Amino acid sequence: MTLDSSANGPSSLLSCEVLDRSRVLDTLINNLEGMAYRCRNDASWTMIFVSQGALGLCGYSAAELVDETHVTWERITHADDRLRVRRCIEQAVAAVGRFCVHYRIRTASGILKWVIERGVAVADEQGEIVVEGFIEDITAQRAILDALEQAELRYRSIFENASEGIFQSTRDGRYLAANPALARIYGYDSAAELVADLADIERRLYVEGGRREAFCRLMEHQGEVLNFESEVYRRDGTRIWISENAHVVRGANGEFICYEGTVQDISERKHYQQQLERQANHDLLTGLPNRILLNDRIEQGLARAARLGYYLTLVFIDLDNFKFINDGLGHVAGDELLKSIAARLAGSLRGSDTVARVGGDEFVLVLSDHYRISTVISLLERVLNEIRRPVTLAGREFQVGASIGVAMFPGDGEDAQTLLKHADIAMYAAKKRGRNNFQFFTHDLNRIADERLNLEAAMRAALERDEFAVHYQPKVDASRRIVGVEALARWTDAALGVIGPDRFIPVAEESGLIMPLTLAVLRRAFSDARQWNAGRATPLMVAVNLSPLLFLGDDVVDRVCAVLEDVGLPPNQVELEITETVFLGDGTRAVAILAEFKARGFRLAMDDFGTGYSALSYLRRFPLDIIKIDRSLVTGLEQEEEVAMIARAAISLGKSLHKTVVAEGVENAAQFDFLCRQGCDEFQGYLLSRPLPAAQITALLAAGGVIRF
Ligand code: C2E
Ligand code: CA
Ligand code: CA
Repeated sequence: MTLDSSANGPSSLLSCEVLDRSRVLDTLINNLEGMAYRCRNDASWTMIFVSQGALGLCGYSAAELVDETHVTWERITHADDRLRVRRCIEQAVAAVGRFCVHYRIRTASGILKWVIERGVAVADEQGEIVVEGFIEDITAQRAILDALEQAELRYRSIFENASEGIFQSTRDGRYLAANPALARIYGYDSAAELVADLADIERRLYVEGGRREAFCRLMEHQGEVLNFESEVYRRDGTRIWISENAHVVRGANGEFICYEGTVQDISERKHYQQQLERQANHDLLTGLPNRILLNDRIEQGLARAARLGYYLTLVFIDLDNFKFINDGLGHVAGDELLKSIAARLAGSLRGSDTVARVGGDEFVLVLSDHYRISTVISLLERVLNEIRRPVTLAGREFQVGASIGVAMFPGDGEDAQTLLKHADIAMYAAKKRGRNNFQFFTHDLNRIADERLNLEAAMRAALERDEFAVHYQPKVDASRRIVGVEALARWTDAALGVIGPDRFIPVAEESGLIMPLTLAVLRRAFSDARQWNAGRATPLMVAVNLSPLLFLGDDVVDRVCAVLEDVGLPPNQVELEITETVFLGDGTRAVAILAEFKARGFRLAMDDFGTGYSALSYLRRFPLDIIKIDRSLVTGLEQEEEVAMIARAAISLGKSLHKTVVAEGVENAAQFDFLCRQGCDEFQGYLLSRPLPAAQITALLAAGGVIRF
């Protein structure tokens, strides 16, 4: 087909058919927006024909363009695009084929336009190659495309540079797209690598099974998920926490296209959160659950035990003499001890059991799934043995015991609070019974615990009213002459009756009343001794008992001395009886305090010798004057060879260290004779005298001070 400006001339009216065709063409060409043309294949694209659209397109009329009358197409083409356009067309010419090229033109009025030129190289009627084509203004489309491209570029930049991971995925768990941040979060070098590798999101990504399912369920039901937090595997198998926000992308007709969303690495926050939760629920020192978590565990255990018909056993553990180690050796050593006990306890339980730390040296075990008491008992024995294993603290070996109380659901209580209280009461009973043992709760104990509280209150009142009395038990030498007395506290309460020191001393120690009680006893004993000794050539020695707990404070020496000065008794008439327990913690510190007493002129006695920890090294190191052989080494020595042997050994040890050896609890003449033969220096016991009120001691002394039996 050729386009000729004369096509609508009369010469062309050859046939109806031809006439119609060229008319149609003519109309078409001149009414199309754009410019149809034929030009030469020359340096300026000399136009042979242009359609009327030229004016609209470039502001030049057809007449101005044809035959270079005014301006060439080469000139109209933007200088920067000329070469490119020429190459494109030349290629088509060479191939006698089609081309299509986008470029800019400058219109008659200087405006820049984008055009698209589609053309074809053809041979004209003379066989010369010419170019025919159509040029359209695409400035508007181009602007839209540019804007789109810009937008696309912008979005791409957001996508590529976002710090959040961004993804598109399919329902069945494959990635369609991912950005570099997501690749980084999941540990891939590139997004492409991630998309290629992570083909099964459900199994490869989420740590917790069913997590992907939950994600998809939310997506289907709500069309989105917000702050969906999960733990996921990174490529190298390490785990991180992520938060996802995602929605379903749908097409114009509501058809599903993909899931699209963002991923944030929240590991740091999560760890912090977990740490806070841990801190709220765990003891910082030992890492064990604390009281809060313990209550949770008990509640869970109770529900389970009720459902399955098991016992739920609560075990209250209190370390014996922990105070001495903690205050004596220092808190670092105390902490060490607690940590190692915590580890041992945790190690001796099953996974379903709980061990919690609920106070300084108090632990609670929650044992589930026991349905026989015998299995609980064997576990408790194991626990006691574990605790008793030696611990090395500050370079020394220590052995601690524990007092253990047990309360069981459902018999001993139905709720956590009651059970804990009852286990605690049982623990107190165990402590009373001599430590390092366990005790099951009984309702009798409940009564005893109440009594203990009553006792404490009554004791406070009695101290305020100065109702504690002191009795004196004589100590005699081998010729049964009274050489001293031991002051022993006595208490008769108006309502409770006579209460022995074995009951009230431990309560005083636990409640902090031991210091006022001791000072009251000392004041009485010192002033009685002062009266007895007023006219005596050889003064009577007065022995007083000092609780090891007094050695934990800083001021025991000063306070004892203050009373002594107040009363006006010389210190060399006083014997201080202490037990080996004072060395349990910081022995060095105890030795220092005792040395201070010694320096002030007191005599020092080791009470209950042969029963305790036998810290023999201290016997040598510390300035001790007297050893009191415990009653348990005296009772039965006349009947049992073994007891006699131990007593003999204890006495000879004391003698070899040049101490004054006193035998306690001498109840019969056989014992007295035996002890005499072994070289005991002094004797105390019911054989000689029970503890007596001061007036009766005064009478005994007045009668000569020699006891007959
Ligand atoms: P202790 O220091 O070993 O006192 C000796 C205890 O043995 C006294 O019991 C005494 O009455 C008893 N006793 C003496 N001779 C015999 C005997 O031949 N046979 C038997 N079976 N017992 C005998 P008491 O007065 O009941 O005191 C018990 C413990 O209470 C004392 O044991 C002592 O540890 C403590 N205690 C008593 N008074 C005080 C005090 O004022 N302060 C402190 N810290 N503890 C005290
Ligand atoms: Ca004593
Ligand atoms: Ca004793």
